[in-house]
Amino acid sequence: MEGIDILMYHQIGRFKPMKNHRATYCSINRFKQQMLYLHIFGYNVISMNEALDILSDKKPMPKKPVVLTFDDGYENFLTYAAPVLKKYNFPAIVYIIPSLIGKKAEWLEKDNLHPSNLMTQSQILKIRKMGFDIGSHNLIHEKMEKKSFELQTHYATESKRILEDILNEEIIHFCYPYGSHDINSLNAVEKAGYKTAVTCQKAKATNKFDLLALPRKAISFGDSIIGFIAKLHTKNTPKNPPIKR
Ligand SMILES: [Zn+2]
Repeated sequence: MEGIDILMYHQIGRFKPMKNHRATYCSINRFKQQMLYLHIFGYNVISMNEALDILSDKKPMPKKPVVLTFDDGYENFLTYAAPVLKKYNFPAIVYIIPSLIGKKAEWLEKDNLHPSNLMTQSQILKIRKMGFDIGSHNLIHEKMEKKSFELQTHYATESKRILEDILNEEIIHFCYPYGSHDINSLNAVEKAGYKTAVTCQKAKATNKFDLLALPRKAISFGDSIIGFIAKLHTKNTPKNPPIKR
């Protein structure tokens, strides 16, 4: 099994070069090139639901499978990323932090970065209507590792409930803030009823990974099209072995 490249994006737009959080910005021009590359070279951009079916052996692995994920739910997803994705009919999933809907990404301020706007409820409904999937990025944007199982379960459950209330559909995909997770996190998101959860471990996702600790590759501000292609072609052995339950 070759594996699925789950790509991680955060903000798409026009940005001045930054020192911190470079892996969370992608210029719109580079994003357009990257999506064009996937289109021209026959990548199968699939949804997280399809990835779930493939990784649980319900569907065969297509050639060159890629999943596009967007963390935090920035307003610039709607402005910049969504039109490009629609052009190629690429599915994507956006992970929302329910306690910060319509607010700002305040955590960027401590690193002297602009606290970009996060989508409002009506913007979230709008992108869902456009066909993009919504997942949970936890109730609050904090590292979960070392928090108690009870607290992690509370966050995972509450965030699921709020998003399901807004969207009137089941939410089954989760994303750990900062990729931070431990064994309690996996058990907590399972108890809450999620079917997949993604980390920031660099690797192709295969059925060797726990569905609740799927690896992803971050596309960074510094990635030219060559860097992007290189990321698609590297196997990457994760630094830490995947958590086994
Ligand atoms: Zn995040």
